[in-house]
Amino acid sequence: MSDKRRVGIMGGTFDPVHYGHLVCAEEARWQFELDEVVFVPTGQPWQKREVSPAEDRYMLTMLATAPNTKFSVSRIDIDREGPTYTRDTLQKFKEFYGEDVDLFFITGADAVLDILTWKDPDEVLELAQLIAASRPEYDLSKLDQIKVAGRMKTMQIPALSISSTDIRERVKTGRPIRYLVPREVLRYIEERALYSSFSKGPR
Ligand code: ATP
Ligand code: MG
Repeated sequence: MSDKRRVGIMGGTFDPVHYGHLVCAEEARWQFELDEVVFVPTGQPWQKREVSPAEDRYMLTMLATAPNTKFSVSRIDIDREGPTYTRDTLQKFKEFYGEDVDLFFITGADAVLDILTWKDPDEVLELAQLIAASRPEYDLSKLDQIKVAGRMKTMQIPALSISSTDIRERVKTGRPIRYLVPREVLRYIEERALYSSFSKGPR
């Protein structure tokens, strides 16, 4: 293995961040011997519904990752105007770190299946090694069929059938989210009354 620094990039909307994200990042860190994992909350997602304010998603991600010294959070996408493209994000990291790092872009299996809709998938794969994590209800073996399969590593992680969509729905309908998210995340959601008003439309 080269002695370059190995940096994992965990992109996501993180609305909110949950234990599925944390387990995925930690397992990638360990399996691929990464020196660190940087969480990168998206700016205004171009493929997604209306999302919570970037500052709330940033704070949630900070709270969740703070106890792990190998984790950090980048504002690179939330401070940038316009939609987030993975290619641009990785390009910025490459510029920041220079040639002395190997970048690893970490995603769940569902997100890789979107890869063909990503802008410039070829460039993305030039910039970073792709790591695809198993995710309940998404078949990792399906990924063999997509054209980038040869340039991607897959990783089995302990199955956690947790999604931000389900968490938002739970908050809205008064069901518990304790043990699905770190306690600090739960507390922030409660204090800021996130998600409970989704039924009334975007805030
Ligand atoms: P949403 O339901 O709003 O799409 P999400 O739970 O999928 O939210 P994202 O912010 O979309 O969370 O995901 C960021 C990254 O984390 C994606 O690559 C996604 O595949 C991965 N991921 C999310 N939840 C899990 C999980 N439970 N297990 C493995 N990977 C996950
Ligand atoms: Mg998702």
